[in-house]
Amino acid sequence: MDKATRLQYLEAMGIDVWATRHRLSAVQPEDPLENLGRAEQDEVHRDQPSNRRPSNLAETVDAEFQPHSPSHASHANEQTWKELQHEVALCRACSLCETRTQTVFGVGNKQASWMLIGEAPGQNEDLQGEPFVGKAGQLLTEMLRAIGLQREEVYIANMLKCRPPNNRDPQAEEVAACNSFLQQQIELIQPKIILAVGRIAAQNLLATQQPLAKLRGVRHQLHNIPLIVIHHPAYLLRSLLEKAKAWSDLQFALSVYQKLEK
Ligand code: SF4
Repeated sequence: MDKATRLQYLEAMGIDVWATRHRLSAVQPEDPLENLGRAEQDEVHRDQPSNRRPSNLAETVDAEFQPHSPSHASHANEQTWKELQHEVALCRACSLCETRTQTVFGVGNKQASWMLIGEAPGQNEDLQGEPFVGKAGQLLTEMLRAIGLQREEVYIANMLKCRPPNNRDPQAEEVAACNSFLQQQIELIQPKIILAVGRIAAQNLLATQQPLAKLRGVRHQLHNIPLIVIHHPAYLLRSLLEKAKAWSDLQFALSVYQKLEK
């Protein structure tokens, strides 16, 4: 009996036919910009730094990105991570627990050299439980790719693990209540470089009221780890003219990182 006839018989008998997994390889990878509006896609592609950077820039970082040594990996104790995530999920230390859909712990490589810290979950993050999703998240992923980093290589977290209602700015007491979770994440990961994503994150992490313009382009320190301030991708989506500044932020961060590696 040929295969097509056999499948017809099985289907008529109500027997499910299971396809082998390797057939999935025929599926084309999803375009990360697919869900962006056409105008935004055009902007991202036109302004995407990878289209303007020296051709060997990404390769340089790829070649330099190496997993940490086993001794470093041992710091990222899985049990400690699980306990910390559990603690966050149950946390009711500030009023944001009343309005959250779920906590947004953080995502990525727990032995990452690069750690990105934003301010707080937005609506999409609150619904999906992951930081930097939606259009802003897609743009952030593209920004990382522009300097040769895959999203999975870095670790991404927010200062706050719960969404402030209506995306208002985090309040000082909320940042203080949530701070120990972020500090523990930094301690476990021990990144080589931290990117503070956006003004709010930068001002809180650096305990300053200085405007973003003054904080960008400077090598700051957080627990002896170099910290570079970059524009928030949500802001860039609204202010397309600022993308050139975003690219210079990333180039600066990359140059700081490369000097660390020498
Ligand atoms: S924002 Fe942080 S401190 Fe406040 S309830 Fe959520 S996890 Fe707890």
